[in-house]
Amino acid sequence: MNEKFSNVVPLKSGKCPICGKASAKPFQLFCSKRCADIDLGNWLNEHYRIPVMSGDFDDDEVEE
Ligand SMILES: [Zn+2]
Repeated sequence: MNEKFSNVVPLKSGKCPICGKASAKPFQLFCSKRCADIDLGNWLNEHYRIPVMSGDFDDDEVEE
């Protein structure tokens, strides 16, 4: 068995959600670690985004 090469065989069933290239096995959904990192960064940004607690969005007038 040559497992060295099986690690880098692109998945036929997946495309990298970041750049659209074929996914590679070591990176699951992604084609490369770079894209995986980008997606992780996006996810973290989304996850840790501070919720805006400014009440109604309809209220454009700000009273001082
Ligand atoms: Zn990619």
